[in-house]
Amino acid sequence: MRDTLIINGRLSAEVLEQNLAAEIAAAQAKPFLAVVLVGHNDASEVYVRNKRNRCLKAGIACEIFRLDENVAESELLSLIDDLNANPVVNGIIVQLPLPLEFDVQKILARVSPAKDVDGFHPLNAGLLASGFGGGFVPATPLGVMRLLKENNVELCGKHAVVIGASVIVGRPLAALLLNQGCSVSVVHDKTVDIETITAEADILVAACGCPKLVKKDWIKEGAVVIDVGINRDGGKLCGDVDFEALCGKASVLTPVPGGVGPMTIAMLLENTWAAYKQQHNL
Ligand code: NAD
Repeated sequence: MRDTLIINGRLSAEVLEQNLAAEIAAAQAKPFLAVVLVGHNDASEVYVRNKRNRCLKAGIACEIFRLDENVAESELLSLIDDLNANPVVNGIIVQLPLPLEFDVQKILARVSPAKDVDGFHPLNAGLLASGFGGGFVPATPLGVMRLLKENNVELCGKHAVVIGASVIVGRPLAALLLNQGCSVSVVHDKTVDIETITAEADILVAACGCPKLVKKDWIKEGAVVIDVGINRDGGKLCGDVDFEALCGKASVLTPVPGGVGPMTIAMLLENTWAAYKQQHNL
């Protein structure tokens, strides 16, 4: 049995946010993040509260703009227009999921690309996908890349397999890995014989929302395995990877909770600070 390095994402996020807080304080800046929350969703309430608390700790002002779930689309768009035009606001996120009636693409495309700290605007997504770069990148894939870098995982020339092809995680992550010189395979719920593809991976990222999907025989000896999933298994939090089974076979592994999750908010705070600096020519 090999030793598996278990990445401590909580610690990485803490250090990152302390450094960020120090930088923001030294610049005597007051970045501002606007969070648009439509309707009521228990999970979103928790996420938004966590984002706000972590913002405030880092010296970033954060205001939650709540709209009723029956709000007219025009009212939501008009709020986004106001936030786009308000010079005090540096970053804007629209908390997902939106109630089903909304055209998510249309709403996300209304956020000014310069304030789109979630990186969901088509312009920012295109800059990433094309490899041109320079736009905002979604926080969760950014967090994964940061953990790989901090733990000295070599990427260039490696085969990376991403399970999941969502706009929020799988697709941007595949682009980031490709931009770092990985050969990338993206597998999803229509892929046949997933485990034969994952078994070829030097780096495997699971982001599909299926509790403990990735089993011991899905990975090759010494693979780096990053678990993005956040699921409930009989009330207990778990990832998309069978963590206990992979310990001793993977060379590097992230736990759930305490792996990628904490990094997501840290990256959102970094993006907000970057937006502030861009808007103030710092
Ligand atoms: P999503 O539902 O938008 O996309 C899931 C993707 O996985 C799809 O491409 C789908 O085709 C694929 N998929 C579904 N079942 C599959 C299967 N059996 N085999 C292979 N592929 C399959 O989900 P998402 O928003 O990308 O989130 C994925 C997971 O990551 C969820 O558990 C979510 O809670 C978690 N997540 C975590 C963070 C974080 O901060 N750690 C952030 C976002 C999402």
